Order: sequence, then C-alpha cells, then structure tokens
Amino acid sequence: MDNSRTIHDKIIIGGGAAGLMAAYSACKIRSDAGDVADVVILEGKENVGKKLSATGNGKCNFTNMYQDKSCYRSDSQDKAYRIINSFDNKKTISFFYNIGIMSTERKGYCYPIGEQARTFRDVLKERVISLGTAIFTEKRVVDIDKTEGIFTVTCSDSTSYSARKLIVCAGGAAAPVFGTDGSIFNILEKMGFNIIKPKPALCGLKTDSKYLKQLDGVRLKCKCSLYSEKEDNIIYQESGEIIFSKNGISGIPILNLSRFAINELADGKKCGVLLDFFPDMGLHKLKDYLSSVIISCGDGAIGVVLSALINDKLLKALFKEIDIDYDSSAKVYDVRTIRNEIKKLSEKLKSFNVNITGDTGFENAQTTQGGVILKEIDEKNMESYKYPGMYFAGEVLDVDGMCGGYNLQWAWTTGYIAGRN
Ligand SMILES: Cc1cc2nc3c(=O)[nH]c(=O)nc-3n(C[C@H](O)[C@H](O)[C@H](O)COP(=O)(O)OP(=O)(O)OC[C@H]3O[C@@H](n4cnc5c(N)ncnc54)[C@H](O)[C@@H]3O)c2cc1C
Repeated sequence: MDNSRTIHDKIIIGGGAAGLMAAYSACKIRSDAGDVADVVILEGKENVGKKLSATGNGKCNFTNMYQDKSCYRSDSQDKAYRIINSFDNKKTISFFYNIGIMSTERKGYCYPIGEQARTFRDVLKERVISLGTAIFTEKRVVDIDKTEGIFTVTCSDSTSYSARKLIVCAGGAAAPVFGTDGSIFNILEKMGFNIIKPKPALCGLKTDSKYLKQLDGVRLKCKCSLYSEKEDNIIYQESGEIIFSKNGISGIPILNLSRFAINELADGKKCGVLLDFFPDMGLHKLKDYLSSVIISCGDGAIGVVLSALINDKLLKALFKEIDIDYDSSAKVYDVRTIRNEIKKLSEKLKSFNVNITGDTGFENAQTTQGGVILKEIDEKNMESYKYPGMYFAGEVLDVDGMCGGYNLQWAWTTGYIAGRN
C-alpha cells in the first residue's frame, strides 16, 4: 500500500515498549478531548512488542521501586534523570494499574501480577488499536525525509507514509533477533543527528582466565571490582551472584559493569574484574579462620574441610596453584608451609583476578549504550531541536539503564512524554 498521499497526524517508527506507550498517550489525549487520533505505528517485525514479550525472563521487570540518577547511564545523566522524574516509577505503576495491569514487587523489582511479559504487549496493543492507532507490521523504515514541514518515511518494501509529526521509537542495536538491528542510527546520522557510537551494555564478558573450564556453570556470590589498567584503579564495584561459563562471566553485577569494561577496552585500555568471595571478612581474619579450621581438623582432608566454605570447583582450581593437595590432611605439611599456602589461598579468595578480553556482543546484550545525544532533545516533550515535529523515545536515545527494570522505565517515561506532545 502506498500511503504517500495521506498525511497522518503522527507516525511512530517501532512498536516496542516506547512506541506502544507513545501511541497510547498520543491517542488518549485526543480521545479525552472527544477527538479521534490519526496515529500510525510502522513496525519492522511481523508483530509489535516482540522484545517486550521476552523481557525479565518472560516475566517483564517493568520498573523498580528504587530510583537514583546512577541507575540511568548517559552522557547527560542529570537530564536523563530529570526526564524520568517527570513520569516516574510510581506514575508508571499507577498508569498500568489504570489500564488493568496490576503489579507485584520483589526486592524492589516490579512485575505484572500475572508474571507474563506479553501482558504488556497484548494489553497495550488492544488499547492503542481501540483508541484509533493503525498498526502496520513488516514495515522496516529505511529512509526519513522532511520537506515543507511534512515527514515522509519510506519502508524497505518501497511503501511510504507521511505525517506532520514523527516519533522515533526504533530501539537500539541490542538483541537484533527482536527487530533492533541498529540500522535506524545510519538513517538518523544521514539526517545530521549526533549519535554516540552504539555499543552493547548489560551483556556477559569474555575472559582468558585459565580457570574457566573448571568453573563452567559455577554460580558464586561475591563482590566484583572492575579495574582499569592497574588492579588498584577500581572504576566500578557491585556485589551479587556471578556465573562462570566456558568463555566468560555473567550475572547481574557483571551485566551492570559490562558497559564500563567495554568502554575501557574500546579506549585500548586493559581491564579486569577482581572477585572477593569473602567481602565481609578482612584478609587477616580470613587467613586466621581458614588456618584454624584446617589445623583443628587433624586428619581430615583439607579440601573436604574447606568445601563447606568455598565452592569445591573453585577450591580445586585454586589448590592447583598452591602447594596443597586437596585430599591430604594438614598433618602432612609442616606448620610454616601450611600457613604460607593458606595465606596464598586467602589472598586469591579475596582478590581473584579475571582479565576481561571482550564482550558477548549485541546478540547477547539486553540494551545499547550510546545513541542519539540528549543535548539535541528538548526534555519537556522529547522533541528534536534540529527537526521540530520529530520526537524520540526509548533505547534509541543515549541512555542505558542498569538491570532491574530501568530500561523499560526509560522507554515508558519517554514514550509517554513524546506521545502526549
Ligand atoms: C532478553 C531481554 C530481556 C530484557 N529484560 C528487561 C527487563 O526485564 N526490564 C527492563 O527494564 N529492560 C529489559 N530489557 C531491555 C528492554 O527490553 C529494552 O530496553 C526496551 O524494550 C527498549 O524499548 P524500545 O521501545 O526503545 O525498543 P524495543 O522494545 O527494542 O522496540 C523497538 C521496535 O522498533 C522496531 N524497529 C527497529 N528498527 C525499525 C525500523 N527501521 N523500522 C521499523 N521498525 C523498526 C523493532 O522491530 C522493535 O519492535 C531486556 C532486553 C532483552 C533483549
């Protein structure tokens, strides 16, 4: 269908979280005024909200009770947080409650009460259609033009659509399987937008650690300290559960620090993560405690004695480095040797170094860092200064949230604001 002669009120590129929210708020404001909206969503995939339906392991962690500026990473962090505060987590929860999605909370993480992510997609889709939004799927936008105040977007099947206003909600480059291949950035760059080079964020990291084979599949709670160049130059710290795999590490603290590690590597710097498996105990106390446990056990095999304190796969890997046999008792060694080796073991447990060599790529990332710079956007309405009438919402902008519902919160907030205007 060539729609080029119809000039719509608004075209929304991308029917993800931000696009559906923008369509809803655009239509609602018109319907509240007794009017019918003329809003079109152009979605590249065969259905809207494919990524939204996969969020939070299928449960959709849609926002978080804890909010802080640091949860939203951006070159314009203050501005990002001011925007969030204009339609915050509480307003978001009450917005969804009012359209029939009640929420439940675990440790601050908010989910729909039915714990099904597709609830958001299905309910928003029904709502926007009933308010007058036309959804066109398999419409991948390949070009945007603005002539005499009218935006015309062309799709890969050569159809084109025109509107007085345009909202770009095409997401970033993370998880391209859901339709976000990042090609929108080339289109925007061609139009003259300043884009911070998109890179993966919230993804696993690769390492050349010699322990990986032995530790594959092991999950451990620890404090993670990301360092740049030197081990004493710590640039980010977070505690939580990490997961070892054949080629790297992941888990929430690693996902959260991944964007910083990726940037260090992109700048040609070396970086690594120090893992502290006993963050609540100082080195000396740990050393004394391990010594007393081992020595008091007399004939007991050292490995077995310590396995209640330290994951046995980790212990076996570390024992290979020190001169202690997992199956021998402390009695086999002289006191000086055993104290020395326990000191080395304690040091490793407090400061286990994992060199970072790369990331697991956009394919495995949950979000994108970089994108359209916020400086070019009016925070009151998400409108571009350069192209009046053109608005932005969601991951396409230079904001990447931490794990915990912050990326969706950014999409809801900006979609809501852009749609209303
Ligand atoms: C596996 C996974 C789990 C996640 N879990 C969570 C979570 O629990 N909580 C959380 O806060 N965040 C989560 N995220 C991140 C979150 O899903 C995204 O940040 C959020 O969906 C971004 O919303 P958006 O609308 O900006 O983009 P998207 O939801 O990515 O939507 C963009 C849409 O635009 C379409 N599109 C792209 N380019 C074009 C084009 N040229 N023409 C037409 N259409 C186009 C795409 O097909 C897509 O449907 C997760 C991400 C992944 C991959």
